[in-house]
Amino acid sequence: MTALIFLIAGLCLFVGYHLGHHVASAGGNPRWAEDLPRDDISADLDAEYALSLLDSIRQLTNTVHDEVDRRAGDKHESTGPISSPSLSEATIVLSAATRLLEANKQLLTDLSSAKAEIFEQQEILGSVQSQAITDELTGLLNRRALNQELPRLREESERMQSPLCFLLVDLDHFKKFNDRFGHLVGDELLQFVASTLKQSTSGRDIVTRFGGEEFACVLPNTNLDHAAIPADRIREAVENLTYQLDERELHITVSVGYAEAQPGETTEQLIQRADMALYAAKAAGRNCCCFHDGQTCQSLQGRLFDLDSLSAAMTEVKLGASQLFTLERS
Ligand code: GH3
Ligand code: MG
Ligand code: MG
Repeated sequence: MTALIFLIAGLCLFVGYHLGHHVASAGGNPRWAEDLPRDDISADLDAEYALSLLDSIRQLTNTVHDEVDRRAGDKHESTGPISSPSLSEATIVLSAATRLLEANKQLLTDLSSAKAEIFEQQEILGSVQSQAITDELTGLLNRRALNQELPRLREESERMQSPLCFLLVDLDHFKKFNDRFGHLVGDELLQFVASTLKQSTSGRDIVTRFGGEEFACVLPNTNLDHAAIPADRIREAVENLTYQLDERELHITVSVGYAEAQPGETTEQLIQRADMALYAAKAAGRNCCCFHDGQTCQSLQGRLFDLDSLSAAMTEVKLGASQLFTLERS
């Protein structure tokens, strides 16, 4: 009977010590509580509840511990045989051990449900975050993601002293396409082009929907000469696309403009130069690629564009559009 009591007391001590130690080693907080988001009220409550349970367990453990100490003292003082504990003492220890185990079981249940809740909330947070940077129609990264990624990749490329190219892709005469076949067909075509862009670039490149019928790609570790390859691969892949609409086979082309980031250049200036190259590609007859090398704009076929005339033409187009906008509003 004595052995049983000491065994139970030992069990109490073991479980209590380990739980207590677990709490103490986490600086008063259980280790799993450190992972809780600080603004998560329900998780904090769970943590408080778990701590109060642990406190109860600690108290129980202390009681049993004192009892064991007292008995051990008695044993040293006594020269005769150890007397059998009374039935009531055994019942107290047994009941303490039972309560301890129940509290432990409850604690584990609460702990696993708190963990499941945290996991679920992390999943929700992750999906909201990914929705915020994804274009709904094409599934590509959106402009917001580009605004975050482009400066980050530029910093990285400057640090590594490696080149980086920025590339704009614009569908040719897409307004006419929509007018002729309808917006929904136009939407499907945009999805089709988006996956073609993905397939025509490498895994380290970033492909985004820049807005409307325009896409932007960031090509890390790629200089102006090397960017000609993915730029023309994209153009050719879209040219070879066949979109089946009932009995008809539809085709579309894209124009591509790109530039290599220069030291000290702002992200806006880089985008502006690629945009100017895109404008040159439109002026060169569409379904072609042009690049801006800092001094000139050229098509891959070698046609040179005067930058001043290009920017004057672009300003005129933008002015024209804004005048139209003002007229429409008045
Ligand atoms: P360009 O060759 O000069 O680029 O001519 P464009 O007609 O492609 O260019 P414009 O800027 O005149 O027209 C762009 C068109 O793209 C008009 C707009 O309806 C269409 N577009 C933009 N976003 C979407 C979209 O999400 N879905 C569809 N179906 N069409 C879109
Ligand atoms: Mg456009
Ligand atoms: Mg267009």
